[in-house]
Amino acid sequence: MQFRDLGMQYQALKKDIDAGIQAVIDSSAYILGKPVAELEEKLADYVGRKHCVTCGNGTDALQLSLMAWGIGPGDAVFTSDFTYFASAGTISILGAVPVLVDIDLDTFNISPDALEAAIQCVLEAGKLTPRAIVPVDLFGQPADYEKILPIARKYGLKVLEDAAQGFGGNINGKRAGSFGDLSATSFFPAKPLGCYGDGGAIFTDDDEIDARLRSLRAQGKSPTDKYDNREIGINSRLDTLQAAILLPKFKAFVEYELEAVNKAANGYTERLRDRFVIPKVPDGFYSSWAQYTILVENREERDATQKYLKENGIPSMIYYPRGLHQQEAYKWMNLKDELYPNTVEAAKRVLSLPMHPYLTEEMVDIIAKKLIEK
Ligand SMILES: *Cc1c(COP(=O)(O)O)cnc(C)c1O
Repeated sequence: MQFRDLGMQYQALKKDIDAGIQAVIDSSAYILGKPVAELEEKLADYVGRKHCVTCGNGTDALQLSLMAWGIGPGDAVFTSDFTYFASAGTISILGAVPVLVDIDLDTFNISPDALEAAIQCVLEAGKLTPRAIVPVDLFGQPADYEKILPIARKYGLKVLEDAAQGFGGNINGKRAGSFGDLSATSFFPAKPLGCYGDGGAIFTDDDEIDARLRSLRAQGKSPTDKYDNREIGINSRLDTLQAAILLPKFKAFVEYELEAVNKAANGYTERLRDRFVIPKVPDGFYSSWAQYTILVENREERDATQKYLKENGIPSMIYYPRGLHQQEAYKWMNLKDELYPNTVEAAKRVLSLPMHPYLTEEMVDIIAKKLIEK
């Protein structure tokens, strides 16, 4: 059994993926070109935004977004403490300070109350300028934008949605990738919509920012002249081959894969709800189930459960074993565990189960039985 079975997906889509790859090779046009433009248009349309700018990976999508706003030294950017490192690392690499915020334990997403407290704290300290919030759509579920967006407006902050895991999710039909002033996603193979290597994209409704992002992803070039560089940018493009792979994958994602992961998630929930803390999906929220993550009683039980599953041929993962405030890279900020009770608790108890669109009812049943009989 695979944690995320990309082989099964390839078998289902092989004909179209192979044809797409071959067509790019035959065209001898390997950078940008028609497949990339077609993908950008389809993704923007799906998410419900004016522009989609693809790039090299999800980390670059976040960094380019922050660069487009001129975020840098002296700025404070607020993000979740319980996420993949890139949500904060991209803030640091531009010289700004990531202000790490505790989560709500039931959704694993940034706590709006803790967020507002953190903003006030930074304002009172008076050393940094609050500029932006980077809420993360963790495990496929959009963050609580109904609460976060008013806070952003109240304090005059931009919102950069980290939808690396969130693509396909929605709140009352409004899709992930449409909540931030800018929204970034990733096509890393294991994400809800993944390619066969690295890839990423940024969504925006703003024409000027769209043009700036297209320049920044190509060394800050002018729109018309590749050798006329207007500012410092990076080299971050989506390979044409990856766009050709994503086009049939996106079609399957929309047509049935998203529904299939929700069916698998419901299967887990029905079977596990009496025995474990199962992921909460608030009313009106829809997850794309990048991960299905349960909470086990405590660290000892969690580790023993993972071991038991492994002995029975069932892979599982710990997303994430520590909060960002506990990372060596952020030791200099000297952040105490007491500030992050929910992150600390989650890191001890989380266990992510196999999840992908080709997970059958029978497989869900076997996994759930093993979990319960342990
Ligand atoms: C994967 C991920 C990223 C980074 O995406 P890459 O394509 O791997 O660079 C950023 N944020 C979150 C929350 C992620 O899960």
